[in-house]
Amino acid sequence: MLVVAEREIAGLMTPEAAYDAIEAVFAAMAKDQAYNFPVVREAIGHEDALYGFKGGFDGAALTLGLKAGGYWPQNQKHGLINHQSTVFLFDADTGRVAAAVGGNLLTALRTAAASAVSIRYLAPKGAKVLGMIGAGHQSAFQMHAAARVHGFEKVIGWNPHPEMLTRLADTATELGLPFEAVDLPTLGAEADVIISITSAFSPLLLDAHVTGTTHIAAMGTDTKGKQELDPALVARARLFTDEVAQSVAIGEFQHAVAQGLIAEEAITQIGAVVNGIHPGRGDAALTIFDGTGVGLQDLAVAQAVVKLAQAKGLAQKVEI
Ligand code: NAD
Repeated sequence: MLVVAEREIAGLMTPEAAYDAIEAVFAAMAKDQAYNFPVVREAIGHEDALYGFKGGFDGAALTLGLKAGGYWPQNQKHGLINHQSTVFLFDADTGRVAAAVGGNLLTALRTAAASAVSIRYLAPKGAKVLGMIGAGHQSAFQMHAAARVHGFEKVIGWNPHPEMLTRLADTATELGLPFEAVDLPTLGAEADVIISITSAFSPLLLDAHVTGTTHIAAMGTDTKGKQELDPALVARARLFTDEVAQSVAIGEFQHAVAQGLIAEEAITQIGAVVNGIHPGRGDAALTIFDGTGVGLQDLAVAQAVVKLAQAKGLAQKVEI
């Protein structure tokens, strides 16, 4: 099998390559050429960790495998980021393990690429202000990917832990954009596109906060019980997601569905917009993309990185 070490990923994988891989796999999912397996995600009762497996099979690209790992909130004391994962790819013809790929940077890149796909296809025309809710590890990747697909003129941001806002200010500076820390009502009123990427378990952005024509990429909720948005806000939006089954089970839309405010049928796979089957935003004032993070995203970026590593001689061969 081939091993691509975590330390090699930064030199191999670009945000552009991640974007292309994610847009393509969303398109394949909407054509029923690729499907995700049910997610296993468990609170293991140790170090407050959430651990699990996300897998799938892309019959068009013949990509088969899984990502194992999760979220360890106390990892700072070990000098590690909170997300830790590894992607395993298997030969779709024989079942033999084909590759093990460091999954940490890839997770950030594929998650940022997913919200960027939604922004590219669903942002209101002439959107100028990007609003960031969340200032953790993922937030910088999110801002970079959003700025790559849309010409924003300003970034505004809010975080439940204000001391972390320097990350948003520094990232905006890297992108040559002005940054302002604001409260949530200001963010909801002024941002044309909002990305939420926190570990919240209760709504942060309320219905009354969002007053204009807006697209929201809700990226933080990837587990049962997590929640960033007011269900009333969800109820009045045009709804999109990576995968409907995952959205209503562990994504942001789980709450509005459980409260009977929206029907599963009202949620569209973003791949249908990519494929031109669904018109996308249309005349909607508010669109929300529920980015739950599917296994096929991990496999798509891992497959891309294995090819790049082979081409550059950076994939180690190991007998198993
Ligand atoms: P991080 O630990 O680096 O940062 C956590 C962020 O959430 C910070 O903004 C922090 O202020 C905020 N936060 C922490 N506890 C909170 C609470 N109780 N209530 C509200 N906010 C809180 O994490 P990260 O790597 O930036 O990831 C952020 C979130 O994104 C996590 O919940 C993670 O599970 C999720 N995530 C989702 C996907 C996906 O595909 N959808 C992929 C990766 C990460």
